[in-house]
Amino acid sequence: MSAAGDDLDAMVAERLAAVRERIANAGGVGVSVLPVTKLFSIDHCRAAHRAGCSAVGENYAQEVVAKFAGERPLFAVHFIGQLQTNKVRLLAPLIDVYESVDRASLVAELAKRVPGAAVLLQVACADEPGKGGCALAAVPALLETAVSAGLDVRGLMTVGPTVGGPEAARAGFRAVRSLCDRLRLAVCSMGMTDDLEVGVQEGSTQVRVGSALFGERPVSAGSVR
Ligand SMILES: *Cc1c(COP(=O)(O)O)cnc(C)c1O
Repeated sequence: MSAAGDDLDAMVAERLAAVRERIANAGGVGVSVLPVTKLFSIDHCRAAHRAGCSAVGENYAQEVVAKFAGERPLFAVHFIGQLQTNKVRLLAPLIDVYESVDRASLVAELAKRVPGAAVLLQVACADEPGKGGCALAAVPALLETAVSAGLDVRGLMTVGPTVGGPEAARAGFRAVRSLCDRLRLAVCSMGMTDDLEVGVQEGSTQVRVGSALFGERPVSAGSVR
């Protein structure tokens, strides 16, 4: 491996240890870290894998194809971005878990193209448009639709508010965790770089972390390849 590759591996391993320490300090036990590699190179994905992560999270369909279509990676790829129904076919061979399922039309398309797909239902816990997510009250019905369609629903995912700081996420996170328990779903994906402590304190089982592991995200994917 190149010296630059060694440096990247060392940096990511060190930062992952720091993230795990933040999780432990927040009282988290058995919380998994999903490294969010959107706009970072496949070398960043590999570094996270070598540091011990079994999956990465990606947001953009075209980027997933560009990064992973050539050769099936050794790690799993979770789709965490807003998912257009017409992108499902393209993604089907490349994605292991769809974490952003938030509407019946998407459930139907996944059931058709990826029978039995492993999914999380994305819940809107912040009152902010443009992020996707199903209203909290509509989740039980969406779960029923997804289960009837044969999808393997593993849990819920939510994104905290962009404004107001980490504490602004607390009430929404608590509501999502409580819904997870009520629906007997095992996975509760909440918390990112800025609000992972709040996520963990409110019962997250998976934090999705990008900048704390890889640094500031490049503006476009082209600049890191
Ligand atoms: C980008 C992104 C993350 C990671 O964000 P960071 O603040 O870099 O940790 C987590 N979840 C989703 C859905 C994202 O789009």
